[in-house]
Amino acid sequence: MLGAIEAGGTKFVCAVGDENGAISERIQLPTTTPGETMPQVLEFFKMHDVEAIGIGSFGPIDVTRESPSYGCITSTPKTAWKDYPFVKTLADAFGIPIGFNTDVNVAALGEATLGAAKGLDSCLYITVGTGIGAGAVVHGKLLQGLSHPEMGHLYVRKSPDDSYVGNCPYHQDCLEGLAAGPAIEGRWQEKGVNLVGREEVWDLEGYYLAQAIYTYILTLSPKKIILGGGVMKQKAVFASIYKYLPELMQGYVALPELSDYIVSPGLGDNAGITGALILAKQALEGL
Ligand code: ADP
Ligand code: ZN
Repeated sequence: MLGAIEAGGTKFVCAVGDENGAISERIQLPTTTPGETMPQVLEFFKMHDVEAIGIGSFGPIDVTRESPSYGCITSTPKTAWKDYPFVKTLADAFGIPIGFNTDVNVAALGEATLGAAKGLDSCLYITVGTGIGAGAVVHGKLLQGLSHPEMGHLYVRKSPDDSYVGNCPYHQDCLEGLAAGPAIEGRWQEKGVNLVGREEVWDLEGYYLAQAIYTYILTLSPKKIILGGGVMKQKAVFASIYKYLPELMQGYVALPELSDYIVSPGLGDNAGITGALILAKQALEGL
């Protein structure tokens, strides 16, 4: 039996299951403060005999094993969680292997193992929700270097028709600042879910995401691109990406059939929690 935690900015999902992604029990908790949320997490896993736990966490987080702050959440704007020793808390409580990575990297792992990119040795998982983030599997492994990738914050060209200045607290008009859920709400003065049928909204959204995807294809050359998160529930965004991406690429890289190449998560909303189970399995194997 393996344990999994999907630690999001608004909610925590904890689950137990097996390495094939079969979940036998799960709970959902609001993300408030470590003092409030974590005792409930520990309580849940105390009721189950898990051999290892995998965590997919909001970030930024420290994933460098040699680092003194390995396993901690680092410079998050959610101040209650800043410097929180996530891995140490669980390792001290249970004395079992703990896998730790970003929410999007773990979702990429889930999709590469059991989802839309099953059987492929590379994929990119992008979430477009409260923020924008992406995780990558390259040569069958999660991409990691100096730190984990932060692909949601690259710069895109502003549309000449877009007067919205952007809302990223670090970079203002980076991709996240122009295209995450709160930016859509800021620009159109309405929540995304209430903008169904407004063609210009989703056309512009795809205009920005296509630019980012263009850059990801040129740099990482993923064999599958998976787009999840609340905003991607709007299927019109996919149509807009399919329109703009070939215009940007100009035939320079031969693209596969886009409706097969750029897709929704095969595991649906379970990509993250399933990936966390697989990460637990890897931790158990000492990977
Ligand atoms: P989180 O990123 O916090 O894990 P979500 O992926 O659900 O959660 O993203 C939340 C963001 O997505 C909010 O900004 C919300 O307005 C937007 N959103 C959620 N559902 C939809 C929808 N059906 N259509 C468009 N935007 C949505
Ligand atoms: Zn940014």
